[in-house]
Amino acid sequence: MLARTLTAATISLLVCAAVLVTSSCSRPRESEFHEQILALGTLIDINFYGISAEKAHAATGEVRAVLEDINNTWHAWQPSLVTRINAHIRAGQASEVPAPRLELIRKSITMTKLSNGLFDPGIGALSELWGFHSDTLPSGPPPDRKKIMALVAKKPSILRLHIEGSKVWSDNPATQLDFGAIAKGYAIDQSIARLRALGVKNAIVNAGGDLRAIGRHGDRPWRIGIRDPRGAGVLASVNAEGDQSIFTSGDYERFYDYHNKRYHHIIDPRTGYPARGTRSVTVVTEKSAATADAAATALFVAGPRDWQNIARALNLDRIMLVDSDNTVHLTKKMASIVHFELEPPPKITISDQL
Ligand code: AMP
Ligand code: MG
Repeated sequence: MLARTLTAATISLLVCAAVLVTSSCSRPRESEFHEQILALGTLIDINFYGISAEKAHAATGEVRAVLEDINNTWHAWQPSLVTRINAHIRAGQASEVPAPRLELIRKSITMTKLSNGLFDPGIGALSELWGFHSDTLPSGPPPDRKKIMALVAKKPSILRLHIEGSKVWSDNPATQLDFGAIAKGYAIDQSIARLRALGVKNAIVNAGGDLRAIGRHGDRPWRIGIRDPRGAGVLASVNAEGDQSIFTSGDYERFYDYHNKRYHHIIDPRTGYPARGTRSVTVVTEKSAATADAAATALFVAGPRDWQNIARALNLDRIMLVDSDNTVHLTKKMASIVHFELEPPPKITISDQL
């Protein structure tokens, strides 16, 4: 998360755009509103249906406060609770963590266990070594192989974190926390909880294509586009209603090319290198956005050969994986809800297991 830097000029443009979108979106139907917030290093879109402009606007203000708090707490490289805990781990010391903050740490530990360690927020030192702990993208060359191997050999992992009352410590000083693969989902869950507490029944909170949708869009479901990992357009779309999270992990989000090879931000904890074989993974689920976020990262690392085992372990049944040959792998249930928007449609294989 917190990936892109935006200049003051860009921000003011975005604010203007937000105002335009808000007023134009309110025109087609009186109770439909679109608001934008710049948070978590990205532009967050909130769509409302069935409430007044005043209520939508007030609710957006509350969501902004929720997102700012999460950003300030969980940022991986700007001063935050996480950078404090990491400094303590390096020094062999325990950290005091307020009880409500333990929720995301506990959730992350659960997801690490379920994903067989393919999702592991304890590998922050690897992301830092690769240069991704920065507001600007690295340009290569990739880090020294020996340094990567040495770090992997130390087996950093969030499973080496211990929680005793309000104290958090690790018996492995190589463990460094980075919640970049789950914090966006968690932030969206917290945003939806706040919206619901305010009486909002139909809304989408969307952080650059990663979203949770509740309710519906009037007399039809919400329609959600899934990005083509190698084009600017939409690969496929799905309808969402009730309460669904749709998250995609992709190798196009943060990366650099060096000697014709792509080095991206999703690291395989077993090798210390960017996970190979996958371009994107999309998860659709009624479980939380945090679950969907962590799962998409884990399935990306699992890749085209292993994703079905991890999907089973995570109890997920709607998954789309685009591999490095551009073949689209689908679970049966995903195949029944997805609509391809590309002409001609991509090569598709449907899982015979899931
Ligand atoms: P996502 O875009 O949700 O897949 O998250 C990617 C981000 O999560 C990266 O920018 C890193 O901050 C962090 N990360 C990278 N690899 C992993 C991994 N295997 N497990 C957990 N977090 C990771
Ligand atoms: Mg993720």
